[in-house]
Amino acid sequence: MGSIYLDNNATTRTDPDVVAAMLPYFTEQFGNASSTHDFGAGVGDSVRTARRALQKLLGAAFDHEVIYTSGGTESDNAAILSALETQAGRSEIVTTTVEHPAILALAADLAKTRGIKVHYIAVDRDGNLDIDAYRRALGPQTAIASVMWANNETGTIFPVETLATLAHEAGALFHTDAVQAAGRIPIDLKATAIDMLSLSGHKLHGPKGIGALYVRKGTRFKPLIRGGHQERGRRAGTENSPAIIGLGKAAERALTLMDETQTRVRGLRDRLEQGVLHRIGHCVVTGGSQNRLPNTTNIAFEYLDGEAILLHLNRAGIAASSGSACTAGSTEPSHVLRAMGVPASALHGAIRLSLSRDNSVAEIDRVLEVLTGIIARLREASPVWQDRKGPPVAEWRDPRAHDIGVPQHV
Ligand SMILES: *Cc1c(COP(=O)(O)O)cnc(C)c1O
Repeated sequence: MGSIYLDNNATTRTDPDVVAAMLPYFTEQFGNASSTHDFGAGVGDSVRTARRALQKLLGAAFDHEVIYTSGGTESDNAAILSALETQAGRSEIVTTTVEHPAILALAADLAKTRGIKVHYIAVDRDGNLDIDAYRRALGPQTAIASVMWANNETGTIFPVETLATLAHEAGALFHTDAVQAAGRIPIDLKATAIDMLSLSGHKLHGPKGIGALYVRKGTRFKPLIRGGHQERGRRAGTENSPAIIGLGKAAERALTLMDETQTRVRGLRDRLEQGVLHRIGHCVVTGGSQNRLPNTTNIAFEYLDGEAILLHLNRAGIAASSGSACTAGSTEPSHVLRAMGVPASALHGAIRLSLSRDNSVAEIDRVLEVLTGIIARLREASPVWQDRKGPPVAEWRDPRAHDIGVPQHV
C-alpha cells in the first residue's frame, strides 16, 4: 500500500476537478478580471460565479458579502483589525485560549503595541468554552469577539450562533475563524448573527494561498490591503483568478458531497478511534466526548513522545501530526491541550489524525495495525512507561476549567 495521508487539518489534497477548473485560467483565460475588454470580462464572470458558490456554501443571504483574500490568516487579521477601526470607542477583544495562531499572534501583538485588552476565555477538560466567563468578558469596551467555529487540533465545535448573539447584546461584533468548519459541516450564516467569517481554500480541497472573508451586509469594514478598487474597494490587488475559480469549484464540490462525506468520514474516524482505544489502551481522545468535526481525532498516548510516534508513522508511509510547536530542538506541548488541562503524563504523547473524503477503510485498518505495533515497541523501550504509576489516563477526570492566562502559541 502506498502512503496514507491523515493530516487534512494541516492541508488537503487539491481535488482533481478543482485543478481542472483552474487550468484554463493560467492559459487562454489569462485576462485581468477587472479589465473591461473580452479577455477580462470572461474571467470577471467566472470570478462572480465562484463567489456565488461560496455564498451558497456559507448560506450568505446577499451578493457581495464574500471578499477574496490570500487565505485564512489574512481573513482573520482583516476581521479583527477592521473591527478595532470601525467600533468607535471600543478597544477590547474577547477570544479564546485555543484559537489558531492567526488570531493569537495578532491579539498578542495588539496588546503589546497598541495596549488593546484581550480577554482569553478558557475551555474545560473536554474543550468546551466557559460561556459564563465569555459573557462576563463582554462589555461596552468590547470591539469584537472572535471564536473559532471548530478547533484545528481537537475538532471541537463551538456554539458560535449563541456566542454571536451574546456579543451583539454587548454591542460588539462577532467574528468566527471557520477555516476547519467550512466545507465539512453545514453553515447557514443567514440564520445566525455572525458578522464576519474566515475560510481558507486549502482546507477544503481547494488551492493554497486563497481564502475568503464573509462580511455581513451592513457591517462596516475597513480594508487591510489598500490599492486598487478590486473587491469593491475592500481588498486591493489583482484578483487571483485561477485560485478564486478553484476555491469556487472546491466550495461547490464540498456542498454537493457534504452529507455523504460527513457520514462516511465519521464512520472511518470512529473506526480508527475505537480501534486505538480498544487495542492500545492507556490513551485518551482529547476533546472527544462532545460535538466534534467528523474528520478529527486527537489521541494522547500516556508516557510516550508524540513526535517519536509521528516519526515512526512517517517511516511507515503514514502522515499525521501533533499540535506541538518545535522551537530550537525542544518540543512545546500544544497550547490547546494545555488549555484543556491534559495531564502531564499524556500531554507530550498526543497525535492528531485528521481524515478526508480521500481516505478508505483499507487505509484506516492499515493505520490501526501499524500504530498498534509502533506503540508496543515504543513502550517496550520506554523506562518511563515501565515505571508508570497510577490509573490509566482515560480514567483521569478534572472538572476545573484550566485558566492558563495568555496562551503561548509559538
Ligand atoms: C489553517 C488554519 C488557518 C490559516 O489558514 P491559511 O489559509 O493557511 O492562512 C487559520 N485558522 C485555522 C483554524 C486553521 O486551521
